[in-house]
Amino acid sequence: MLMNLFKFKGGVKPPTNKTQSTTLPIAPAPLPSRLVVPLHQSIGGMPRPVVQAGDKVLKGQLIGEADGWISAAVHAPTSGTVLEVAMHAQPHPSGLDALCVVIEPDGKDEWIAREALDYKTLKPEEVRERLQQAGVVGLGGAVFPTHGKLTASKTVAMEELVVNGAECEPFITCDDLLMRERAEEVVRGIGIFRDLLQPKKVLIGIEDNKPEAAAAMRAAVTALNEPFLVVQVPTLYPAGGAKQLIRVLTGKEVPAAKRSTDLGVQCFNVATAYTAWRAIAHGEPVVSRIVTVSGNVHHPRNYEVLIGTPMDELLKLAQPHPDTDGIIMGGPMMGFLVPDMQVPVVKATNCLIAHDDRLFPPKPPEMPCIRCGACAEVCPHELQPFEMYWFARAKNFGKTQEYHIFDCIECGCCSFVCPSRIPLVQYFRFAKSEIWAREREKNAAEGAKARFEFKQLRDEREKAEKAEKLARAAAAQAAKKAAEAAAAAAAGDAPAEPAAATVAATPAENSQAVAPQGDFLRGAFDPEKAAKMATIQAAMERAKAQRAAIQPKNVESLSAEQQRTVAEIEARRAVLAPPPPETAAAAGESSQKAE
Ligand code: SF4
Ligand code: SF4
Repeated sequence: MLMNLFKFKGGVKPPTNKTQSTTLPIAPAPLPSRLVVPLHQSIGGMPRPVVQAGDKVLKGQLIGEADGWISAAVHAPTSGTVLEVAMHAQPHPSGLDALCVVIEPDGKDEWIAREALDYKTLKPEEVRERLQQAGVVGLGGAVFPTHGKLTASKTVAMEELVVNGAECEPFITCDDLLMRERAEEVVRGIGIFRDLLQPKKVLIGIEDNKPEAAAAMRAAVTALNEPFLVVQVPTLYPAGGAKQLIRVLTGKEVPAAKRSTDLGVQCFNVATAYTAWRAIAHGEPVVSRIVTVSGNVHHPRNYEVLIGTPMDELLKLAQPHPDTDGIIMGGPMMGFLVPDMQVPVVKATNCLIAHDDRLFPPKPPEMPCIRCGACAEVCPHELQPFEMYWFARAKNFGKTQEYHIFDCIECGCCSFVCPSRIPLVQYFRFAKSEIWAREREKNAAEGAKARFEFKQLRDEREKAEKAEKLARAAAAQAAKKAAEAAAAAAAGDAPAEPAAATVAATPAENSQAVAPQGDFLRGAFDPEKAAKMATIQAAMERAKAQRAAIQPKNVESLSAEQQRTVAEIEARRAVLAPPPPETAAAAGESSQKAE
């Protein structure tokens, strides 16, 4: 069936260099001497190691447990012994180390018990969970956990499921060979995605320089009686970018600030569909992937490689020329030279290119920008690379953001056409990393400030709570003593020093004997003061009880000190006593008048 195709803006046509590695079928790479398996191989949380040095593991055994929903588990790629769980160099331009599980293979390549399932008997959430547990991630390079993309939106209907078999980057042919040789399993995997997302259409996009892959996929679709459309799209770099392929197949432009699902489209790579099928229908977690080995080698080819295989060991299989001086991971447009040739193959490794100066001659020195605009013409995201370049160079990172530097997908089209040989993408990567670093610093500072303020608040609250507790305890104690004294007095057993505490309660102190909670609520609460106030209140209570108990006939029997106290109490009672009836009546009258 013919369908209308759309164009995306810009794009370039670099030499494809693909035929070198497509003459031979995929070969299994032999077991390496050791496997260094990084725990963090997907976007999201870093899996927690669940093995330690000395443990025996089987192929497919869990070694890193997913940390949160956006995270994917990691498994032992073969059977053997865990040598260590330690930091090792990563295949990343930064060259930074990350936590890895190092396994010495035992040569048996013995699998765990694998549970094959008919996914149609499972609930959708069970399928998603199994994919997460099997470590299925986007193998097109983004390594986003696949299960996280398989929940249909509640607000936007799923219109199209786009399956990416474009593989537009030069040299890389792993998806091409996968589709040629394992098309049926790829299509079955797409069937799982379709059943979970329920799109109206499934479109499989393949660049028109892969006729064998397109034919194999069509045959599989027909054999499995699936209503999927296999569409050959024009070969134009970067047609394999998700947004570009969506544009070509559906005509929809995904705005920079939005996701394709906001427009009712979801996109997966063909290799991701394949691993999803293996995970569900065969119970095999992701322990290997297909990697193209090409460039400055005698025998370019695609290999099925265990995750964790050191890159130099893999490269040897293709017999590199002696002048090979490095390895590019990925293609020449978006890839990078790995910092160390022994770094491991990871789930994101689709291609290794043996580097030498003949294949990739050193670029002549960078020249000044002549503002020719060629870079802007080829940018698939309609950016203005020369403006971003100026501001990145001047370290005016705020301005680079105004020119939407974060919409740049680092496709390299602008650098490819620049007549001044300016490595534009490197400037953009530098600017982005600086912005991220500053953002991290800012967040760290804000976090520290928030923590300090929280600590202060907590200290104040604890102090106030402690004081309140003390005050309550003191008041309770005082009340108890007063009650005991009152009971004793009522029984005619007056204490030897009935009013000593009352004497200590000076008028000034008594004036403080207001409810301590009032002060606390006003934020002026002093625990020492509160305790003192409670003591004073208690003394007053005791005195009150004693006064009530002392009959005038007994006053003469008191000591001089006690008699003075009684006189003082009487004087206070006179002050605090309610007014005589006539005074009260007068006050009531004046009050009514005021109303
Ligand atoms: S292509 Fe190069 S020289 Fe031309 S405007 Fe862009 S950065 Fe400047
Ligand atoms: S690298 Fe960025 S700025 Fe350059 S063409 Fe690609 S998307 Fe545009």
